[in-house]
Amino acid sequence: MSDAQISSLLDQLIASILDDHAMACARPAQAGRLPSVRGAYILAIQLDQPQLLPLARLGEPELPAGLYVYAGSAYGPGGIKARVTRHLRKEKTVHWHIDHVTKKAAGIGALAFPGANECELVSRLTANDDFCVAVDRFGSSDCRTCPSHLLVRK
Ligand SMILES: [Zn+2]
Repeated sequence: MSDAQISSLLDQLIASILDDHAMACARPAQAGRLPSVRGAYILAIQLDQPQLLPLARLGEPELPAGLYVYAGSAYGPGGIKARVTRHLRKEKTVHWHIDHVTKKAAGIGALAFPGANECELVSRLTANDDFCVAVDRFGSSDCRTCPSHLLVRK
C-alpha cells in the first residue's frame, strides 16, 4: 500500500507551496471532508507501473512509475469537493487528460486551496528543484502561462 509515500509527498508539497503562508490549504483525511468551495486543488498521484497515455496531440507519452503532481481548478457546482471526488473514482468516462492517470493510480492524495489559482500553484512548484514537468502541455491546453499542469517529483 502506498499511503506513506503519498503522505510524504503531500507534506513536501505543502512545504513547497506554503513557505510564505499566503495561501490557505486543506489536507483532508478523507475526500468527503474536502471543502465544497471554489478554488484550486493539487493531486498527489503514485504510479506503480509505467503508463502509456493515449493522447495523440501530446505525442502519446509514457509516464514512468513515480510520484506525480497535478494542479487543477474547480469553479463549477460543488467546487473542489465535487471535482476531487471525481478524480478519486476509478470508474469514470475519460474527459480530461488527467483521467488517464487517475484511473491507473496506485494511490491518490489531495490538497485544497480555496480561492486559489492552479497556475499559481504550478509556478510555485516549478520554482522548486524537487519538481519538474512530466509531460509538456498536459492539462494546460487553455492555459497560456504554464508549461504543463502535470509535474513529477525528481
Ligand atoms: Zn496553468
